[in-house]
This record gives sequence, structure tokens and C-alpha cells, in this order.
Amino acid sequence: MSDTKHKIIIAVDGFSSCGKSTFAKAIAARLGYIFIDTGAMYRAVTLYALEHGAIRSGIVDEEEVVRLLDQISITFRFNPERGASDIYVNGDLAEGKIRTIEVSNCVSRVSAIPEVRRKLVAMQQEMGRRKGVVMDGRDIGTVVFPDAELKLFMTADPAVRAQRRYKELVEKGDPVTLEEIERNVRERDKADMSRAVSPLRQADDAVVLDNSHMSVEEQMAWFMELYRQRING
Ligand code: C5P
Repeated sequence: MSDTKHKIIIAVDGFSSCGKSTFAKAIAARLGYIFIDTGAMYRAVTLYALEHGAIRSGIVDEEEVVRLLDQISITFRFNPERGASDIYVNGDLAEGKIRTIEVSNCVSRVSAIPEVRRKLVAMQQEMGRRKGVVMDGRDIGTVVFPDAELKLFMTADPAVRAQRRYKELVEKGDPVTLEEIERNVRERDKADMSRAVSPLRQADDAVVLDNSHMSVEEQMAWFMELYRQRING
């Protein structure tokens, strides 16, 4: 199944906290593909901006973020324990620091900056050049790889999504409230859909997966059926 001749690009887009990364990671492991979490890249730029004074009291200084861009080098390194790649910023492990509520609250404003998108989209296109990748994000099937052979658009009930993200952060020991998470999920969806550059939208040829009431195993079974049809079709 992971025969290089038949390697394709699988684009997984959708709303915040739908379990896109969990699903995309499982698909990649099953097919022997590389999994790329593009949200982690926008989060890494946001973290760097926070740490270097380009975001103060929640206010994003866009010019300063653009100025910092040239100093930011993002790399991924496979972590066998997680079964996925960890993200590094200028050689420093950033994985554990990019998913805090502070980063989540600023990332949609940083990701709306055209220069930020230009830089990260170019990196993503390079990472997918040889195919055999599952890439998750907001604009993968519409902008990064409009010719991707298989496009999925994931969605789930906002209350279910907030509950999932809340559980994840509480397990990590983050002192968050469910209301705070629910607000963040709704605000990010709104900001991601209404931004001028590459807004979140479903590609015309994407297949929708609403996983509000589906386990990861059920999602995998659904996906493998679709994948077989596409590959054989
Ligand atoms: O996927 P995740 O929720 O970690 O993404 C964080 C944020 O990064 C999103 O809310 C969105 O603002 C931005 N993003 C984006 N384009 C992508 C991936 C993420 O704008 N391809």
C-alpha cells in the first residue's frame, strides 16, 4: 500500500479541535506516510513572537512579527515515542510550549498575516514535493495542495470539540476552564473563516467527515474504505 508509485497527498482541513491531527497521524501510520501538522508551524511562529516581544498583552504587532520571520527556522524531527514529529524552533524543542491557551489565543491573528502564510506555505509545499504525506491544517486542499489526490474536510459539534480540547489540556495540568476553551474554539473558527488570506473553507472536491460521534477506529475504517475506492477507482 505504501508503494512509492502510488504515493499521494492527503489534505486534511477543518475546524479547530476536531481531532484532525489524531486522525491524520493515524492515517499516516497506517499508510507509511509522513504526517505534517501545519497548525504546529503557525503556533511555533506565534510562540516565537510572544517570546520576542512582538505580542504584548494579547496585542499582535504585525510589523514586528514580519521583521522576526527571517530569524525563525522551523524543523521537524521524528519522535518514536509519540509516533509523530516534534517541532523545533531554531533547534530548540517547542512541541510542549505551542499548545498553551496563550498561544491558542493569538495564533489566528498571527496566521492571518500574509507574509507569515507565504513563508509557511512555501515550506509545506516543499515538504510535500515527494508526496506520501498527510498534511493537516486549514488551507491544505485549497491553497497549499489544490491538486491533492484526496481531500478531507473535518468537522464536529463545537461543544464536543471544546470538551476534547479541555480534557487534553487538563490532562497536561493546564489550569483552564471549559468556558475559556469553548470561547477560544469558536473565536478561532470565526477568525480562520473570515480572514482575507486563505480563509478556512471546504474545497469543492473535499469529502466531509463529521466525527462528533465517531471513535478514532470508526474514522479509520471509514477512511480506509474511501482510500481503497480512490486508489482502485
Ligand atoms: O490546527 P491548530 O488548531 O493547531 O492550528 C492553530 C491555528 O493555526 C489555527 O486556528 C489557524 O489560525 C492557524 N492555521 C492556519 N492554517 C493552517 C493551519 C493552522 O491558518 N494550515
